[in-house]
Amino acid sequence: MSSLTSMETASRLPRLRAALDEAGCDGLLVTNLTNIRYLTGFTGSAAMLFVLPDETVFATDGRYETQSAEEMAAASVEARLVVTPAAKQREMLAPLVAGVKRLGLEAAHISWARERAFEAEWFQGVELVATEGLIEELRRVKDPGELERMARAAEIADLALAAVRPMLAEEPTEADFGRALDFEMRRFGASGPSFETIVAAGPNAAMPHHRPSEWRIKQGELIVLDFGAVYDGYCSDMTRTLCVGSPTPDDGRVVEVVAASQAAGVAAVRAGVSCADVDRACRQVIEGAGWGDRFVHSTGHGVGLDIHEDPRVAATSSDTLQAGQVVTVEPGVYLPGLTGCRIEDTLVVTDDGCYPLTNATKDLAV
Ligand code: ZN
Ligand code: ZN
Repeated sequence: MSSLTSMETASRLPRLRAALDEAGCDGLLVTNLTNIRYLTGFTGSAAMLFVLPDETVFATDGRYETQSAEEMAAASVEARLVVTPAAKQREMLAPLVAGVKRLGLEAAHISWARERAFEAEWFQGVELVATEGLIEELRRVKDPGELERMARAAEIADLALAAVRPMLAEEPTEADFGRALDFEMRRFGASGPSFETIVAAGPNAAMPHHRPSEWRIKQGELIVLDFGAVYDGYCSDMTRTLCVGSPTPDDGRVVEVVAASQAAGVAAVRAGVSCADVDRACRQVIEGAGWGDRFVHSTGHGVGLDIHEDPRVAATSSDTLQAGQVVTVEPGVYLPGLTGCRIEDTLVVTDDGCYPLTNATKDLAV
């Protein structure tokens, strides 16, 4: 495979620093590993990042000494590396914040127990500030290197679906089919699925987050497949509804309405449009068909290093879309005990509209 466009990792710490003042702190302790990855390129499972007024300190344990140095060098990120055994963490790291008056913590990612330990034991005399979404805000708009990774993740999912599609005609169980899909994603280069693959056939399709079961997929039933791949840390997300043979007229009508709703949502996505308006565009079509109360979730979400991130595409969202954001549009109709349908694309927002990363056909036929 061709080499990837490098990401603009080194520009992220300066951008974060510029936002600290407004957040009411002169230092920030980053503990969320996904955010640490975003800021430094580090992909391991243990680290703390101190964004201090005069320097950045990356702390990890001996397992990651070499890896973290290599990954930060590859991303051209400048941080002082401190390697601490777990037993010496507090002793070695607490003094780092001696010159900090107000230390921000990531409120959404820190446990009560940890905050209490920081306050009572680690950082006495330092005012701790609960910050929210500082790094998540930066993560909303993707750089070209990120978009390339997400496009690759989506392409892997497309290829995997194309490879296993014919297997549906053999009437496999949901679980067997889900495993085949996951296997193909890995075979095409995914490090894994971006969330637990959903395979929901027949009446199970009425449950938006049904777990693949021993239910045998049958002719004429709708089959909802919601899945994605992870490629170099970045997620994809796609839902397709399929059918072996022809759906019943009632099921066919559900598919028609959801497809029209999804198309209306995609047509609404453009920089400057509010997320609430995209949600409304989808919802109006389903309400028009009389199933407004059967569209039981919001229209979509941002995607990136996490499968669900900002902005949320929901009626209650106050966010406005910006070029370079990546969001899903995934309306559905769920008729308990009968059937369900959802169709989802992952879209890159542009100044004059959007383009899909997910390109698998929306044809029902397997
Ligand atoms: Zn999905
Ligand atoms: Zn989704």
